[in-house]
Amino acid sequence: EQQRQAVYAHQPAVTADGHRVEIAANIACSIEAPAAFANGAEGIGLFRTEMLFMDRHSAPDEDEQFNHYREVLDAANGKPVIIRTMDIGGDKPIDYLKLPEEANPFLGYRAVRIYPQFEQLFRSQLRAILRASVYGSTRIMIPMIQSIEEIRWVKQQLAAVKTELDNSNIAYSKQLQLGIMVEIPAVAFIIDQFCQEVDFFSIGSNDMTQYLLAVDRDNAQVSHLYNSLAPAFLRLLQHVVSTAHEHGRWVGLCGELGADTKVLPLLVGAGLDEISMSAPKITATKAALNHLTFEHCQQLFEQACQCPTIDDVTALLNKTASQET
Ligand code: PEP
Ligand code: MG
Repeated sequence: EQQRQAVYAHQPAVTADGHRVEIAANIACSIEAPAAFANGAEGIGLFRTEMLFMDRHSAPDEDEQFNHYREVLDAANGKPVIIRTMDIGGDKPIDYLKLPEEANPFLGYRAVRIYPQFEQLFRSQLRAILRASVYGSTRIMIPMIQSIEEIRWVKQQLAAVKTELDNSNIAYSKQLQLGIMVEIPAVAFIIDQFCQEVDFFSIGSNDMTQYLLAVDRDNAQVSHLYNSLAPAFLRLLQHVVSTAHEHGRWVGLCGELGADTKVLPLLVGAGLDEISMSAPKITATKAALNHLTFEHCQQLFEQACQCPTIDDVTALLNKTASQET
């Protein structure tokens, strides 16, 4: 089976009827990048940069960060790389920032919410990314965005950093794209307004499922309620993708859901432009994609969005899977 799939590793990800979906890799540090591309990644869909900041006594300086970002862009050899700015705080504590302990870290002080307090740290990350951006196709993604105010603040910071670089004659790419994680339900309801602010979106199915369904996925008492096949989640996906497309914006997905080949027909049918997953899943996903048609996936997704229960969605997927084999 693996040998049969290996054929697809370095072919473009495409359905049997020629519909392209970019299959990208999630990485957590720069040394993972070469293996991701060796596994057939068509880009880096999520570089979780928080690892760079964790388990140490002080923050990495701009040059240290720059070296990591450049390493990934070099490995990408022109393929797109989405660098997500630090998603720290909450359940990812950083000793040297001295953040308060919280009763509810997942609803607390983390990611974009801490950037104003640590403005210099955030700017050092933006500067490092911008300086590295000349080495490839760079995209910046902001985690845990919840409001238009937050993204406007980020854009002000980005503009200020660009002015600094211009004044020092330091080069950066003018094609740099800015995007946000769609992982807080509120964003989905004003996605049209976010289209005026950013170039792209990536749905974080891990947090989105937890916040949409109000289920702490680390709590065993309720974890059986944590399921991204909930019809409410599928309808959210439908609304986000169709609205973003109406406004000429592209949409990816970078949570664990993307690695589940059983769910792939729904993700393709939803019209996602990119799916990012852990590198070892890429070949199997490309192979599975090759056995699907976009038309059929679209019909299936429409049907799934009309299902009242998770069991109905699962039954629909099982029926389709058995018809295909
Ligand atoms: C997500 O929430 O789906 C996501 C990709 O971000 P993380 O898992 O890093 O919170
Ligand atoms: Mg998340």
